[in-house]
Amino acid sequence: MLPISITLSEHLKEKPQDESKLGFGRIFTDHMFIMDYDPENGWHDARIVPYQNFSMDPASVVIHYGQAIFEGSKCYRTADGSLQLFRPSANFARMTRSAERMGMPALDEETALEGLKQLIRVEADWVPHQEGTSLYIRPTMISTDVQLGVHASKTYRFFIILSPVGSYYKNGLQPVSIYVEDKYVRAVRGGTGFTKCAGNYAASILAGEIAEKKGYSQVLWLDGVEQKYVEEVGSMNMMFAYGNKIVTPMLNGSILPGITRDSILTLARQLGYETEEKRIAISDVFADGHAGKLTEAFGTGTAAVISPVGELLMEDDKLIFQDGKIGPVAQKLYDTLTGIQYGRLPDENHWIVKI
Ligand SMILES: *Cc1c(COP(=O)(O)O)cnc(C)c1O
Repeated sequence: MLPISITLSEHLKEKPQDESKLGFGRIFTDHMFIMDYDPENGWHDARIVPYQNFSMDPASVVIHYGQAIFEGSKCYRTADGSLQLFRPSANFARMTRSAERMGMPALDEETALEGLKQLIRVEADWVPHQEGTSLYIRPTMISTDVQLGVHASKTYRFFIILSPVGSYYKNGLQPVSIYVEDKYVRAVRGGTGFTKCAGNYAASILAGEIAEKKGYSQVLWLDGVEQKYVEEVGSMNMMFAYGNKIVTPMLNGSILPGITRDSILTLARQLGYETEEKRIAISDVFADGHAGKLTEAFGTGTAAVISPVGELLMEDDKLIFQDGKIGPVAQKLYDTLTGIQYGRLPDENHWIVKI
């Protein structure tokens, strides 16, 4: 593990007064963690420094060819004031898998985790207190070579920034309406769908804008070949409940292997729900929904934890779940997972890392 130097900021920012108005990803803390990579030295110069701008050459590879990957994780404050992370090593391991696909170097996961813990200790007062709030963690890796040829960069920068956040959705745990996208696609097998690379999100923005204009908050993506099978939502994996059975699209290389998805599937089994990972046709979702067999739909992801789907629209076919309210399966899973994350429930799966 690399030694980590710490330089404290001399000008601390004012912390947000009203924790009910934090929103998502708009406010950043006083410090950041950085380490750099080059082929001779590997990862080096691990440091915590005041939050600041980067100075970049306009010919930097990342600006032209988008060689950039990121992660998303959270630090939670428990009732006794202690701070805890949820499965942080799973995020760094996934970043290494993203890096491999993007021709980037494997992350020094041990130094990244230690850097994160030390950064959170420096920024402890930034972890908000109110129910449902947390300190969002955004690790990122970018290429930094200066050249216009399409080649893997030789030099990279890894950094972590932190943002106190409220609930991901403006309306809290209110069900969202989702638009089934049948024109554009997000990812195909063999592509980069399983990575958290910046380009995946750039390619999704237009469909999101169109859905928003129609009054829907997110897009549900179908498979990139036949556009028949459910993939996932913008930044969430999808799950469907048939009474006490939960089904979710299997990991096929084009959807993101969510840590929340994995945690929810594990907890669901432990709570006695049946679970199945398979290919799910969107036509079956609508048929089973109209027949009353499919009782709930919800998304899972770090930012929103669980987001119940109140309404699903495809062309002019509309499905309403649970009268537009959260259903019992989503509520039970939400209470269980957030109970563990905020330290209200025992952590039997050893997911929590105390700061
Ligand atoms: C981050 C993300 C998810 C959720 O992953 P978690 O590890 O649960 O936060 C799902 N889908 C996409 C496309 C994502 O970017």
